[in-house]
Amino acid sequence: MAVRVAEEWFTICAGCEVTILDIGEPLLDILPKLEFVHMPVIMDHKLFGQTGDQPGPEIPEADVGIISGGIRVEENKELAEEMRKKCNTLIALGSCACYGGLPALANQFTVEELQDKVFRGSVSTDSADTPSQAVSPFTDRVYALHEVVNVDLKLPGCPTTPEMVVEALTALLEGRDISLPSKSVCDECPTIRKEKAVADLKRPLEPMEFEPGKPLDTVRCYMEQGFLCNGPATRSGCGGSEKTPRCIKAYMPCRGCFGPLSDTANPMVDMMGALSSIGLDLKQIPDRAATFNRFSGAGRLRPLPKRS
Ligand code: SF4
Ligand code: SF4
Ligand code: SF4
Repeated sequence: MAVRVAEEWFTICAGCEVTILDIGEPLLDILPKLEFVHMPVIMDHKLFGQTGDQPGPEIPEADVGIISGGIRVEENKELAEEMRKKCNTLIALGSCACYGGLPALANQFTVEELQDKVFRGSVSTDSADTPSQAVSPFTDRVYALHEVVNVDLKLPGCPTTPEMVVEALTALLEGRDISLPSKSVCDECPTIRKEKAVADLKRPLEPMEFEPGKPLDTVRCYMEQGFLCNGPATRSGCGGSEKTPRCIKAYMPCRGCFGPLSDTANPMVDMMGALSSIGLDLKQIPDRAATFNRFSGAGRLRPLPKRS
């Protein structure tokens, strides 16, 4: 019998749904074993009944529920609870669902400030009152999925990787557990570290020093070249079976999209330690809280004090 899968998306860009399509050929092997019973990105499903008269959202029962996106409006919360009720196993797909992701950067502002900026004080459209009809009210901040309902498995990344989704689905089909990598991006980065002090932080678009065509293990660690790299405080896994982290392979520092090293780790503390160890002055980094929690702001970022 096929495994019944329900998928929902909350506050997202839909990149994680594209990751499911990016699985490519292996998806053809898995698909006959799955039955998608709910997935707004590919199928129309009237959550509130055909005529919209149902009081709360309803999804069909499923063996596996997959949710991408953080929780930003009350309707997301209700749907998360409905998914939890109807799905035996619940997976958080991508860093928005796991840690709030980029949308949780908005947690640095109050709801009032955000609505002022977007509706009443818009510089690109005619200002208008905050819509209040036929839209769900904002929650007080962006929440990660596990802050609202129990989550059985987190698949981090912005977006997560097709390999990770395949591994999770295959493990579920075979009835075995999977665990996330516990190493950091640095642990899987082949660049050379000399652990020498760096005086100044470079701007992100300054040229990286490398010789085209030469392997990465001949290139100096990007942080030691003066670029801010979140590799020391970020969970590995983005490189898939090949291991080399995705951005590092593209000569870009890690931005931290796989989230903290563990649920209890604090990326800000980990990064401060890493930066101090190579002599970089932390004061050179503007917006430190946001920079180090760029993908994990749910529960970590708070409204900034008002500037006088
Ligand atoms: S984790 Fe990234 S790719 Fe996935 S939905 Fe969020 S913003 Fe998009
Ligand atoms: S700081 Fe960045 S470039 Fe340096 S080893 Fe770690 S991941 Fe690689
Ligand atoms: S290197 Fe860092 S930012 Fe890039 S994909 Fe991997 S975890 Fe994400």
